Amino acid sequence: MSKTLLVGLDAACWNYLNPLLEAGKMPALQRLIESGTWGTMQSTMPPWTPTAWASIITGKNPGKHGIFDMMWRRPGTYEFTPTNAKARMGTPFWKRLDEAGVRVGMVNAPFTYPCDPLNGFIVCGFGTPNSASDVTYPREVHQWIEQEFGHYEPAVEPQFLRTASPSEIFKVEREHQARQVQIALEMANRYEVEVLAINLMFTDHANHKMPEMEQVQAAYVQADKDVDALIQGFQPDNVMLISDHGSNRLQGNFLLNEWLRDQGYYVQAENVSSDRSAALNWVLVKWLQTHNGWSGPQEIILRRLARESLLKLPNGVQERFWDKIDAVIPFAREHVLLSDEPDYSRTKVFPGSIYSGLLYFNLVDREPQGIMSAQERHALASEIAEKLLEVKEPETGEPLFSNVYTAKDIYTGPAIEYAPDLIIDSYDKGWNIQATKYVPTSEQTTNRYFVDLRGHRDFGWHSRDGIFVFSGSAFNVGPASTEGHVMDIPATLLHLNGVPIPEDYDGRVLTELFTSELSQQPVQYQPGDVEASISTDEAYSTEEAEELMSHLRALGYLD
Ligand SMILES: [Zn+2]
Repeated sequence: MSKTLLVGLDAACWNYLNPLLEAGKMPALQRLIESGTWGTMQSTMPPWTPTAWASIITGKNPGKHGIFDMMWRRPGTYEFTPTNAKARMGTPFWKRLDEAGVRVGMVNAPFTYPCDPLNGFIVCGFGTPNSASDVTYPREVHQWIEQEFGHYEPAVEPQFLRTASPSEIFKVEREHQARQVQIALEMANRYEVEVLAINLMFTDHANHKMPEMEQVQAAYVQADKDVDALIQGFQPDNVMLISDHGSNRLQGNFLLNEWLRDQGYYVQAENVSSDRSAALNWVLVKWLQTHNGWSGPQEIILRRLARESLLKLPNGVQERFWDKIDAVIPFAREHVLLSDEPDYSRTKVFPGSIYSGLLYFNLVDREPQGIMSAQERHALASEIAEKLLEVKEPETGEPLFSNVYTAKDIYTGPAIEYAPDLIIDSYDKGWNIQATKYVPTSEQTTNRYFVDLRGHRDFGWHSRDGIFVFSGSAFNVGPASTEGHVMDIPATLLHLNGVPIPEDYDGRVLTELFTSELSQQPVQYQPGDVEASISTDEAYSTEEAEELMSHLRALGYLD
């Protein structure tokens, strides 16, 4: 029996790894590189964990698996709910291996909840509600975990990630990951798996949550120890170390909604009165305390008075008052009066989840309150793309976006009808897209589209360039001559295990990476999936969906 270890080093890229390798701080990775073949692994567009992992799991492009974003859009609605395994179309690679009699163990692969039965085992990963009770298959794995470690949470508590200091986060994430490694090794042994796949996510979380690069590097050094433990414990014949996407440090955010609004594509709905009152209070605190020097009980009384009366004043008076406030707190008026939700009856284009840079057209025949005809689609796509490509980075004056794609440019397959209409590639620069309105603060007064990171708790973002290092008896030694794509991972893994490749895979077997003996073995094929329609089932209860939203927020994926 030949054993393969597939390790995901989430968000790893050569830019981050090279200095650590040169300093001798990642000895396990260094050994894999010296004894194997390595290169760049292109991610999906967008290079997001759910989209990229759906391609790793199914071997297909997003136009076939249907996962485009952290949030999944319920077809025919404006509702976005956290992505889950049920929304994914396509047979996962572990089922293909399982059917061929290869035993697989999966630990912490993102968006595997709810989990499928198989002969090996699954411990569901990122995207599993911490309150869920069925987080493993078979259930006895969960029982063993709880006996051994107490209550098991698939992910570090979101509230903790939001409030804890970087050093506290480091300690808890390190322990969490070490536990997952222990679980993987114990279960791999118990179920005698031939393929053990595990995703180590601390490297990604560190990039998002740690303000200093040294702290991010510490997470990589830790991951190297975990990789070493996995190799020592599992004793694989071959190791496939991969990342789902790369990383960038974040300089700031580009406020897409503000831009769309100024271009006339997007109309904000009015703020509901409770949000309005909170926003008004916040603006008045800034105005009275910071700009007019009021304090103590007098400020409180004046603020209450202003809060209660301002929005009831005749329009003309209100306008004059707002002009005064706007002069010192730019865009305060819009902040109070307008919400972050589109008014769909007047909006042509609206964004997907907050950070994704995905845009949907509000089409008459598709959306509940569509206002655009299908005929306008093509012209509008070109117009918006052209304008977006003219947006310049504030300091360098260079174009901010590398590309703007239509779904047809980059996706193929039946799920394309659920794809966003435009996909903005913002992954070469340190500025990320944030689809929210401008929130005025006293520090950010110059440019409404670009906000820096002051007051934020997110410090890193994704790039398209991930990595791979394949090492062991099956693989060549030396740098790879070609780049891989995340879709190639399952095809390569199946071929390595002598399992035919489904005909509908978009990824290919990276034959050039195998030793000459294996690379000459012809790639065998098997039938692909019967075309399935997209699921509209509820995988999560309302409480679970809320819990996941809060987790995604804590990680900085949602606002
Ligand atoms: Zn990731």
